[in-house]
Amino acid sequence: MASDRRDQAVRAAVAHALLSDSAPVAALLDTAGVRASAAALRAAFAAVTDAPVLHAFAVKAAPLVPVLRLLREEGLGAEVASPGELALARAAGVPPQLTVLDSPAKTPTELREALTLGTAVNADNPQELARLDPLVAALTGAGGTPPPVGLRVNAQVGGGSIGALSTATDTSKFGVPLRDDGAREWIVRAFLERPWLTRLHTHSGSQGVPLALMATGVRAVYELAEEINAAAGRHQVDTVDIGGGLPVNFASEEETPTYARYARLLADEVPGLFDGRYGLVTEFGRALLAKHGTVLARVEYTKTSGGRPVAVAHAGVQVATRTVYDPASWPLRIVAYDAAGRPKSGPPLAQDVAGPACFAGDLLAVARPLPRLEPGDVVAALDTGAYYFAHHYAYNSLPRPGVYGYELEPDGTVRFATVRSPQRPAEIVAESGGEHRDALVRR
Ligand SMILES: *Cc1c(COP(=O)(O)O)cnc(C)c1O
Repeated sequence: MASDRRDQAVRAAVAHALLSDSAPVAALLDTAGVRASAAALRAAFAAVTDAPVLHAFAVKAAPLVPVLRLLREEGLGAEVASPGELALARAAGVPPQLTVLDSPAKTPTELREALTLGTAVNADNPQELARLDPLVAALTGAGGTPPPVGLRVNAQVGGGSIGALSTATDTSKFGVPLRDDGAREWIVRAFLERPWLTRLHTHSGSQGVPLALMATGVRAVYELAEEINAAAGRHQVDTVDIGGGLPVNFASEEETPTYARYARLLADEVPGLFDGRYGLVTEFGRALLAKHGTVLARVEYTKTSGGRPVAVAHAGVQVATRTVYDPASWPLRIVAYDAAGRPKSGPPLAQDVAGPACFAGDLLAVARPLPRLEPGDVVAALDTGAYYFAHHYAYNSLPRPGVYGYELEPDGTVRFATVRSPQRPAEIVAESGGEHRDALVRR
């Protein structure tokens, strides 16, 4: 079981001194768990369509080169949304043909590079499409073939429980709003005028969005594809990119909802999209990684404040930014281990688990019932494999923690692989203008 593997990994991490005075936070990634999620994703869609499916991992969920490489090995591509993410995908060996560029604010240079590389591009808006026109013309004029180009559509099907992650509201900043006055007609015309425009893209939500609502967004885009193809008199739109957004269960060990359930729901709700006429692209991020990551932090001190026990540990806003600033939307499970990395037992006591940053709200958990914590114990923040330890927030110049993949050998020993080294003070100085020390003083 994943939780047994995790317990063994925590014990071994402590034994291997992955936590120390100079590195009191470390992040662990369950490599076997990541592989299993990737395999489950592929199997789920293979069960409902014979058409080609590119599963492009949303790099923003875990922008770590070895992770992208692992997912490539498991048959996935990459969805990128910035030059940095494209560079990470390339560094991981993800070929351009398996990469999709989706950023909402692509510069002319980015667009030209993507077209030259052969990376699929999803245009966000009419201005971007107009910007692509001469670039595509130049490429074809020089005898080249443009990569697949699509248009992102906001099906405006409504939001979920987390406003900041709801991409399909009426006024969302993403894509061409399908239900606005005249938008649908404009989109059909835009395709008829551009024979090279062959894809539609939608990403109608993320954590907090119900599956049924996501399926409604996919259906709206499928119907639009059918309308365009009927108007064009040919199968111009040959691929639909359905985005990602499968929500993650942060409340227990259970991995729900499953890819299989979502793929089945889509195939039932939008059968025409799965009858083999359309290629598919998916862009899952959180659901592939979240359950497989754990942040470990040493408890440095314990005290009581206003009668409440507080454990001051080393993981806070720098690795769990969303949880600290919006705890109601992003609660994390916390597990207590002793100084040897063994699961701690004892009667539950409501304690605050505080981070190391110098502001009062830097709390991983408030009044959380846990065995009484002591200095030297280790607290683990679970389900942090996506959008947590890889999304460092440099408050107080706290260093990026090391990230270590773990796998269990058949004999039960835990093997660690360094995914990212802990950040050193010299690196913090370097990225904080260290080389420009005298830039602001009179010489
Ligand atoms: C963030 C994002 C994704 C991934 O979303 P998850 O909720 O992590 O699955 C996919 N596509 C686009 C366009 C995104 O912005």
